[in-house]
Amino acid sequence: MSELRFNELRGEEVAYAIHRQDRTFLPDRDHCPLDPTRPGGPATEIPLAQFEIVVFDNRFPAFEAPAGAAEVVVYTDEHDGSFGALAAERAEALMWVWRHRYMELGAREDVEYVYIFENRGVEIGVTLHHPHGQIYGYPFLPPVPALELAADTRLGGCSQCIAMERERADGRRIIYENEAVLTYVPHAARWPYEAHVALRRHRDSLLTCEPEELRLLSVGLQTLVRGYDALFARAMPYVMAVHQAPTGGDRRDGHLHVEFYPPLREADKLKYPAGSEQGAGTFISDVLPEDAAAALREAILRAS
Ligand SMILES: [Zn+2]
Ligand SMILES: [Zn+2]
Ligand SMILES: [Zn+2]
Repeated sequence: MSELRFNELRGEEVAYAIHRQDRTFLPDRDHCPLDPTRPGGPATEIPLAQFEIVVFDNRFPAFEAPAGAAEVVVYTDEHDGSFGALAAERAEALMWVWRHRYMELGAREDVEYVYIFENRGVEIGVTLHHPHGQIYGYPFLPPVPALELAADTRLGGCSQCIAMERERADGRRIIYENEAVLTYVPHAARWPYEAHVALRRHRDSLLTCEPEELRLLSVGLQTLVRGYDALFARAMPYVMAVHQAPTGGDRRDGHLHVEFYPPLREADKLKYPAGSEQGAGTFISDVLPEDAAAALREAILRAS
């Protein structure tokens, strides 16, 4: 079982999940636990000979009932691939899987916040290369979404809607848009090539999106990820973070958007969160968001 402790100085929870030390670490190609279980082959986590998208409970959960949840979402039964390389229909189907998990986990008494995310690349600490993401059901409201809700209060309206107005008025940091989503490098991005994909209309979560919006969200996400891979002509490591309304209590504020934090500042140079970032909490970046946006626009064109 994991244990939660409250760090008084930081005002935040820390989760201890000791058993996770034993989890599978970069298995060789023939022993991938997220592969289908092929006839005559070794049993994997997934007892199916083939599949499209599979969700299961994380065997090494950071959170579990009755105090939260941790799930794994496998995007495809093909080991060598990525979110960006999925067929369009599969990426669209993934949005419906996310929506379903948000609904089901969000309905649980012990889940205050449903967090869908993907870690990609060894630079991020990925232990399995098979294309997959994760979902945590936090038994409390974590600090980052809490900060966004606090911004809503401070600004007297939806901070995401206000941010998009600002980006639109300026224009230099917008890198992509379709009928449903706007993709931009935030005015004060922390990571060199950070980008956000936000629903243009105010939608608190995947649950309140129209089917066409879900489809166009998947198009926007894939467009960005393909652009990332084209930027330095290599698979771009990133953290993908889906932010939506909390599901605990009666608060339903929030605005669906997906944030990407790639840790590279050049093809072979990592941006480490170091002294200033960790000890003082202030990011120091050497790429201006306007320049990052221009480079990403060009990379997206190259990728399409
Ligand atoms: Zn695999
Ligand atoms: Zn909004
Ligand atoms: Zn956010």
